[in-house]
Amino acid sequence: MIYLHEISDFPIRCFSCGSVIGHLYAKYLEMLKNGKTPKETLDLLGIQRYCCRRMFITHKSLIGEIARFQGAVG
Ligand SMILES: [Zn+2]
Repeated sequence: MIYLHEISDFPIRCFSCGSVIGHLYAKYLEMLKNGKTPKETLDLLGIQRYCCRRMFITHKSLIGEIARFQGAVG
């Protein structure tokens, strides 16, 4: 079952290097919720390149904004 809070517009791949990172975002959020810092979390997840690290640190979800217009186009 897919819960609404698990739906994310986090990119599947890093924009710069193309590494697959999308499957780690839920774990990232979970670890932050448990009190880890972003640095600790990314180190534990094995995200080493700074292009990939910025994908996590700077992500701002817009899925809630976009969802308001579902069915308005097309
Ligand atoms: Zn990258």
